[in-house]
Amino acid sequence: MRQIVLHGGVGSSDELNGLLDKYASYSINYGGPLDAVVAAVKYMEDDLNFNAGTGSVMRLDGSIQMDASVMIDENFGSVINIEFVKNPVQVAREVMETSPHVMLCGDGATKFAMEKGHPHYDPSTDRARKRLEDSRVVATKDSRFLYPGIQSVDTVGAVANFDGKIAAALSTGGSSPMMRGRVGDTPIPGSGILVKDGFGIAATGIGEEIIRRQLSYDLYCKRDRLEEEWKLIAENSQFSLGVVGFNREKSFVLANKSMAHGYAKA
Ligand code: ASP
Repeated sequence: MRQIVLHGGVGSSDELNGLLDKYASYSINYGGPLDAVVAAVKYMEDDLNFNAGTGSVMRLDGSIQMDASVMIDENFGSVINIEFVKNPVQVAREVMETSPHVMLCGDGATKFAMEKGHPHYDPSTDRARKRLEDSRVVATKDSRFLYPGIQSVDTVGAVANFDGKIAAALSTGGSSPMMRGRVGDTPIPGSGILVKDGFGIAATGIGEEIIRRQLSYDLYCKRDRLEEEWKLIAENSQFSLGVVGFNREKSFVLANKSMAHGYAKA
C-alpha cells in the first residue's frame, strides 16, 4: 500500500485540509516515497497559502532565507538559510543525492543550487511584507521574541510510506519574528525530521523548542506509546507544536493547535 500524510504547519487553518488531500492524492502517483514527499512539498512551496518557497516569511531585515530537508533509508540532505530559489526541498534532495555532504548553508547552499541549474528566483510576496510589519511590532516589544508573540504557521511537511519504505521532507521560511541567520528545526535530523526503523516524522512549530527537545528523536524513542507521550509533551506546552508521520503502517497527525493536514492512500 502507498500512503502519504502532509501538514501545512501548526496554526494553519483546517479549511486547507481539502487542498492538502488533493496535493496528497497527486503526489502519491510519483515514483517512490522520496519522489512523493518531494512532489508534495513542492506543491506546497509553490502555493501562497504556505510559509515555504514562494510565500515564505521575511526575516527582520526583510530578507528571505529558507530551510528544507529530506530523509530516507538513513540518508539525509538539507539546506539552511538558502536564498533566491523556488524549491528549496529539491535542492535538499540534490545535496543528499549529488553532493559529498548532507547539509549546505547560506551562500554555499545558494551557490550549489545555481550550479545545479536552479534559476535565480525571488520568493517575496505582499503577504510576507505585511507579516514583516507585524513581526517587527512584536520584536520591538520584546527583544528576545518571547512567546506568545512569536508566530509560527504554514510551514510544510510530508511523510510517505510505500509498502513499508518511508521518506520524509520538510520546508519552511521559518518562524517570525526571526533574525537573519537564525536556523530552526527543519534542516536538523532528529529535531524536525526523522526516518528510522519503520518510523517517519515531520514536525512543525517553534523551531527553538523542537530543537531543545529533539522532538522527532524523542517521539521515535517513545513510539510504542506515541499518542499518550504526545499528550504529555504537547498538551501543557506553551509552544505551538505539531507532527505528522507513520508509525509502521499507521499514520498519525498530532498538534496542540489547529494544523492543516492531508492524507491519501492507493
Ligand atoms: N518549525 C519552523 C521553524 O521554526 C516553523 C514552523 O513549523 O512553522 O523554522
